[in-house]
Amino acid sequence: MTAHDPSLGRTSGGLLGWLGLGPRHPHQPAETPGGESHLDRRDGLRQRQLDEVVRFLTAHQLEVSTVTLTIAWNYLTGADSQLVRSIDRQVQARKPVTLEWIDQELGRQDRVDEMAVLADLMQRLETSIDEFGKASRDAHVATSEYHSALEGHVNELEQVTRAGEVISELANIAKVMLRRTREIEKQMLRSEAQTRALRRRLDEARRSAEEDHLTGLPNRRAFEAVFEEEFRLARASAETLCVAFCDIDHFKKINDEHGHEAGDRVLKLVADAFARISNDHCHVARHGGEEFVLLLRGETLEQACAQLDHLREQLASRRLVNRANDRPFGQVTFSAGVADVFRCGDPRSALRAADSALYRAKQEGRNRVAAASEADCQPPELKVA
Ligand code: GH3
Ligand code: MG
Ligand code: MG
Repeated sequence: MTAHDPSLGRTSGGLLGWLGLGPRHPHQPAETPGGESHLDRRDGLRQRQLDEVVRFLTAHQLEVSTVTLTIAWNYLTGADSQLVRSIDRQVQARKPVTLEWIDQELGRQDRVDEMAVLADLMQRLETSIDEFGKASRDAHVATSEYHSALEGHVNELEQVTRAGEVISELANIAKVMLRRTREIEKQMLRSEAQTRALRRRLDEARRSAEEDHLTGLPNRRAFEAVFEEEFRLARASAETLCVAFCDIDHFKKINDEHGHEAGDRVLKLVADAFARISNDHCHVARHGGEEFVLLLRGETLEQACAQLDHLREQLASRRLVNRANDRPFGQVTFSAGVADVFRCGDPRSALRAADSALYRAKQEGRNRVAAASEADCQPPELKVA
């Protein structure tokens, strides 16, 4: 919009009112009843206003036209505060208020307004792009193209002559960006769901690979990893660590007399008894067959032996019955060999020592717990006969 633009008439309602062609301008003094007749008062007021307008036009050597009359009116009534400030600055600087200058000044103001709108638009678009960029690296790659296009337009905006075109291009870019954002959002949701499903399957596979299916206890493979970790933890905190091998006594007989399925149920029952004593410091696993392995952190060899002996006694005191035929299983017992890992030096030697102690417990009559000696820790070739 420029000073020559008839749309300036948006502020010319007052001027039209003053000319008697439209509503009265709010700044225009109200006519009061009484005293002078209304017509006299109105004519007097009009005369004064007309004098002011004429003085304004004469002072600035402006020709009389709809445009200059509107400018004079808007200036004198303060209807256009921007115009008032501009003219006052020009007058103070002792520069002429010409029609060309007014045209330029109003045009610049219009463009300043456009710039403000565009700057706001740019700000919002750039904010969206920033947020979008944070959402995902993919999204960031996509938006960076739009970003540079937008930046290009910001530079163009400094020249301003193409403001209209730039606005419509910005709108197009924003539309494309929104469409792309929605696509990426959908892709991200899809891949998130796929990742979740994959993670679930991986967790299941890992659990299944490390779990003994019959007893639900960790298997030998899982135990080996736990042993390494417990060894590291115990060494770091200067705690004791004991390892125990436990083997069900005469288990073959149970299978032979009651069948494999009944044997499975007994295995599960013994596994449950071991599982009940497991916690953060006591890890139990099925090492294979009817053999279980335990890790006890923070307990001395004697304490570990005592704990296992207590469990052995509890199991031995139970009278188990085969629920398939109500026939008694007889006494179910286990034998155990326990070794102090740090006395043996390392996990491998400790396992060997626990196994040797277990062998001794079997030899000495079963249903007992044996502690590994220093000699049990030695490799077989170094053992004194
Ligand atoms: P010992 O006191 O000397 O340990 O005698 P044992 O009979 O327990 O030992 P042996 O090694 O002679 O027999 C172990 C039996 O355990 C043989 C095998 O069939 C059985 N067994 C191993 N795994 C399973 C299983 O998962 N289920 C069942 N039912 N039996 C199993
Ligand atoms: Mg056995
Ligand atoms: Mg065995």
